[in-house]
Amino acid sequence: MRILVAEDNAVFQKILENNLKAWGYEVVLASDGTEAWKILCGPTAPQLAVLDWMMPGMSGIELCKKIRQENREPYTYVILLTALHGEDELVAGMEAGADDYVTKPFKPAELRVRLRAGKRVVELQNDLVQAREALRVKATHDSLTGLWNHEEIFRLLDLELFRAERQKTPVGIVLADIDHFKKINDTYGHLAGDQALRMVAQQLQKLVRSYDSIGRYGGDEFLLVLPGCDRASLTSLGARLRDSLQENQAASPAGPITLTLSLGGIVYEQHRGINATTLLHETDSALYRAKHAGRDQLVIAETLPPAASPPPA
Ligand code: GH3
Ligand code: MG
Repeated sequence: MRILVAEDNAVFQKILENNLKAWGYEVVLASDGTEAWKILCGPTAPQLAVLDWMMPGMSGIELCKKIRQENREPYTYVILLTALHGEDELVAGMEAGADDYVTKPFKPAELRVRLRAGKRVVELQNDLVQAREALRVKATHDSLTGLWNHEEIFRLLDLELFRAERQKTPVGIVLADIDHFKKINDTYGHLAGDQALRMVAQQLQKLVRSYDSIGRYGGDEFLLVLPGCDRASLTSLGARLRDSLQENQAASPAGPITLTLSLGGIVYEQHRGINATTLLHETDSALYRAKHAGRDQLVIAETLPPAASPPPA
């Protein structure tokens, strides 16, 4: 584990460095508070820090306060090192945000076990952050396709509508449903069906821009949220999607199969007061019309008039 040692006294710095290296730590040295702060702000800042209380530039106490003010992740475990012995100093150090406190001249064995405790805290915290991240991914993604899940894509749609209203820009919304998907499952089995869903998801992802969002809305239905997308761009996306599914067939036990999609779309353009649910309802009606007009096509819903403003209070 990397550890920052901020100590202005060259002799103490050397003693610390030698000890820490002997205990298996990778040591990063700073000779004053300002240099230490620079290192702590860097992209590979050590998560363990031994800070001398008295240093030019910035004291250990000031450094501690700054670290805690930033409330950064990952956590920095701080041990203050000082020649001061008083109880008041200890309280001041801990109140500034230090996790532990060692007085100089330190006993190597004591510093070693205190560092070991700090390392354990840092590792536990890293495990927690990782577990939380994994949970967040699980809670927002569809496990089969890796796309956003139903709740998340709906939240992103809401967010984009809000942004579009503020910036007076359009948002394209598309519901895409695989045609006759039941037949794939019935003919080739559920696993081939899953494979086909993943393939469609990949094609959708390839065709959209980095700031577009795609979610698996349910079963074989996908929701695309396309910020800044007007009617012409929506039509062009529909055509490109159709071509891409012609060119990229899905695998099945009987060989490659061509899938088609029916698409319902709408362009949201400053429809003040029209919410995501209403827009999705209109998009779903457009999809229904695409299915009934023979599938494998895009139908774009008529632009809705702005919702009436509420009467003045
Ligand atoms: P249409 O052209 O009218 O859309 O016909 P369809 O057969 O595609 O009908 P529909 O969209 O209603 O069928 C969706 C099917 O998707 C039904 C369900 O068995 C299947 N399905 C839903 N989720 C999954 C899944 O995770 N894996 C697989 N393999 N199939 C799924
Ligand atoms: Mg379908």
